[in-house]
Amino acid sequence: MSDNRSHVDGARVLADLHALRGIGTYKTGVHKPTFSEPHMRSLEWLAQRLPEAALAADIDGIGNVFGTSTKSGPKLLAGSHLESQNFAGWLDGPLGVVYALEAARVINPDPNTNGAVEVAAWCDEEGHFGSFLGSRSYVGGVTEADIDAARDRNSGRTMREALRDVGLAGRARAKAERGRHIGYLEAHIEQGETLESGGLKIGVVTSIVGIWQYRITFTGEQNHAGTTRMGVRKDAGVALARFCVDIDDRFPASCGPRTVWTTGRITLDPGAPSIIPGSAEMLFQIRDDDPDVIGRLEDLLRSMAADVSAQGRCSVAVERIRTGAPAMMDTAFQQAIEAASVAFAGGKSIRMPSGAGHDAQILATIMPAGMLFVPSMGGISHHWSENTDDADIVTGAQVFVDACRRLLAG
Ligand SMILES: [Zn+2]
Repeated sequence: MSDNRSHVDGARVLADLHALRGIGTYKTGVHKPTFSEPHMRSLEWLAQRLPEAALAADIDGIGNVFGTSTKSGPKLLAGSHLESQNFAGWLDGPLGVVYALEAARVINPDPNTNGAVEVAAWCDEEGHFGSFLGSRSYVGGVTEADIDAARDRNSGRTMREALRDVGLAGRARAKAERGRHIGYLEAHIEQGETLESGGLKIGVVTSIVGIWQYRITFTGEQNHAGTTRMGVRKDAGVALARFCVDIDDRFPASCGPRTVWTTGRITLDPGAPSIIPGSAEMLFQIRDDDPDVIGRLEDLLRSMAADVSAQGRCSVAVERIRTGAPAMMDTAFQQAIEAASVAFAGGKSIRMPSGAGHDAQILATIMPAGMLFVPSMGGISHHWSENTDDADIVTGAQVFVDACRRLLAG
C-alpha cells in the first residue's frame, strides 16, 4: 500500500532487526540472557540509535533503557525487551523495541505531529532473574530487598553481582513520573497461530491473561515395589496420574473459550524404580482473562481433590502458589490499533487476548496500555526458528506508527 502518512521506512526497520539479530546470534535466532555480553551490547546499540529519534538515552540501575523527549505536548511510551530466552528467536522483544524506535524517528521530528513517542526497553522480561523486574521496577513494584534476593535461574549469579559486572551497580532506577505519559503501547510477535491460520495481519490485544499456579501434593504410602500386593498399595504416583487425566476430562465443561491449563512438572518421591512412591507433586497452571472462570476451575480442582482423599488411598492437598490478575488493555488503544489496521493492513485484524505475559500487563497497572501482535510463522516462539514474514513485519510497523499518531492526536 502506498503510504503518505506513516513515512515508515520498512528497510530501516528490517535492517535494525537484523543488526540486533547479529548480536549474540544462535543459528537463525539469538542467545541473549539478561546481562550477558550480547544483551548489554544490544542495550548499547539502542542507546546509540535513540538520538536519531530526538531522544536522550539513559540506562538505569536495573538495565532498563529509556529514550526521553523534551518536545512539548502529550507523550506516549512505547517499547518491549531486548534480552531473549536461552537459544531463542530473534523477534521476541526486539520487534517491539524497533517499532517504538521507528515511531519515535518518524513522529518526534515532525513539526505537524503534536507530542512525542518515548522509548523503553524493559530489562529481564524473559525472567532470567525474576518476574518482569525491569518494568515492575519502573512502576514501583521492586524493592532493594527484591534485588538482593534475585538470582539468575541458570547460573545462580546474583543480580547484585550481575549489575556490578555490567557496570550498573549504584545507578538510580528510573520510576514512572505520574501523568507524564498518555499510555504505553507495545508490539510483539503473536507466538501463536491465530493470525497466520486466519490470514490476518494484526492482533488487537484485549487483555493479557492472568496466570494461576498450584502445587498439588498426593500423599500415599512408600513401600517395596516387589513385595507389596497391588490391592493394598497406596501409590501416590498412580493417584497423581489419574488426577491429571481427570482434569483434562472435567475442565472442558467448566472452562471458558480460551482457557488453557498445564501440568508443567511432576515429581515422585523418592523417585526410584523399586519403590512405590509415597508422595507425588505436580505443578499445575491455569491461564484465563476472566477471574470468574479461574474461580470456577479452582473450586472444581479442590472438589476433585476432596473426592480422591475421601476414597481413602491417598490424600490430596491443593495449594495456590501464584495468582496473577489479568490485565485489561485500554479500549481507546484497541480502537486506535484497529483504525490503523484499516488504514495500513486492509483491516485484517482481530481482537484477541494474549496467552503470554508481557511488560504491557505491568505498565497497565499505572497507565492505559495497549498491545498489537504480528503473525508468527507456524506459531513458533521461544525457539531459534521463530520468524515472521518481512512484509508482515513492515505492515506491523506501519500500523504501529499510525496507531501512535492516532493516540497522540487524542
Ligand atoms: Zn517477549
